[in-house]
Amino acid sequence: MPSPARMTQTLQQGLRRLIGGRTSAATGYRVFDLALSRRISLSPSLTRLVFTGPDIAEMNTLAPDQRVKLFFPAADGSLPRLPIDQHWKAAHSALPPERRPPMRTYTIRALHREALEVEVDFVLHGVNGPASAWATHAQVGDCLQMVAPNLAYTGDPGGYEWKPPHGLRNVLLVGDETALPAITGILEQLADQQPELAVEAFIEVPLQADCLPLRHSTATRLHWLPRDMLQCEHGQAMQHAVRELATLAQGSATINVKLEDVDIETRILWEKASTRRSAFHAWVAGESATVMDIRRHLIKERGLPRECLTLMGYWRAGRAFD
Ligand SMILES: Cc1cc2nc3c(=O)[nH]c(=O)nc-3n(C[C@H](O)[C@H](O)[C@H](O)COP(=O)(O)OP(=O)(O)OC[C@H]3O[C@@H](n4cnc5c(N)ncnc54)[C@H](O)[C@@H]3O)c2cc1C
Repeated sequence: MPSPARMTQTLQQGLRRLIGGRTSAATGYRVFDLALSRRISLSPSLTRLVFTGPDIAEMNTLAPDQRVKLFFPAADGSLPRLPIDQHWKAAHSALPPERRPPMRTYTIRALHREALEVEVDFVLHGVNGPASAWATHAQVGDCLQMVAPNLAYTGDPGGYEWKPPHGLRNVLLVGDETALPAITGILEQLADQQPELAVEAFIEVPLQADCLPLRHSTATRLHWLPRDMLQCEHGQAMQHAVRELATLAQGSATINVKLEDVDIETRILWEKASTRRSAFHAWVAGESATVMDIRRHLIKERGLPRECLTLMGYWRAGRAFD
């Protein structure tokens, strides 16, 4: 005869399964059906799209740089209709190319489960890609699908790289407009949880009018790098600023370490810092060639250990990665 405590536990587990609560059978990520509920213009280059959906109460986000996959209408105009169960990947691959919904990666800017709303900030870079084109023209009520973390999953679904190590004293954040949603969230989190940390943030944006008021700690030095004012091409301001202005990134390791380049034409540059104790941590994201240049500088010229650097190519100029 099981003990009363054991019986209660078994009953609770069964109930949770019945009401669709957290079960170990749930997958880390799942598909969500979404409809656009509001457009909020943040600046000339950035628009916040607020989505609603019946299952958003079951969505999760674990960090300010939580990435999700968005599925847009296919080449033949058909709407994404992937199954919301674990077979979505197979269903996506099985579709003929003209009916396969293009997939792009975005960041959850905010999740409001009770209001059944999720927010994504889109860079409107033109109508040359399915995501930016959709975001430019989307009307309230337009539908898409998102693959996002599943609240019912009990483990860590991953899909985020902001994992500041213990013992941290100095943080370097560098990104372009595509990384702005993540950096905004990271600055807010640091202001709330570790306001004493010395933070240097460099954010490159297309226009002066894109320099948004961000909430950050008093220990943060935030440098906006608007390309129109600085009269420079994409990436140049980030590269220059890290070289000339970043004071917190002081390496002590051997300079001239051997460093292989990543072939960014065929691969996505994605290098993660170790989660081991460290006083310094850098989080860098943006156009791949720019991040590659900053990687070279931080490792080869400043002698920073690779274990304290998270380096991510969020997109590649002149290429589309589906
Ligand atoms: C983890 C992660 C998180 C991301 N989060 C966000 C986010 O929150 N908001 C956001 O806006 N983007 C974000 N991005 C970047 C976004 O996925 C890319 O910009 C993506 O290429 C956009 O798809 P598209 O269909 O508009 O263009 P694509 O079809 O991919 O590309 C078409 C053309 O547009 C160019 N292009 C792509 N992006 C840009 C750009 N930003 N500026 C100028 N030219 C561009 C390409 O080089 C290509 O020539 C994120 C990327 C990653 C990997």
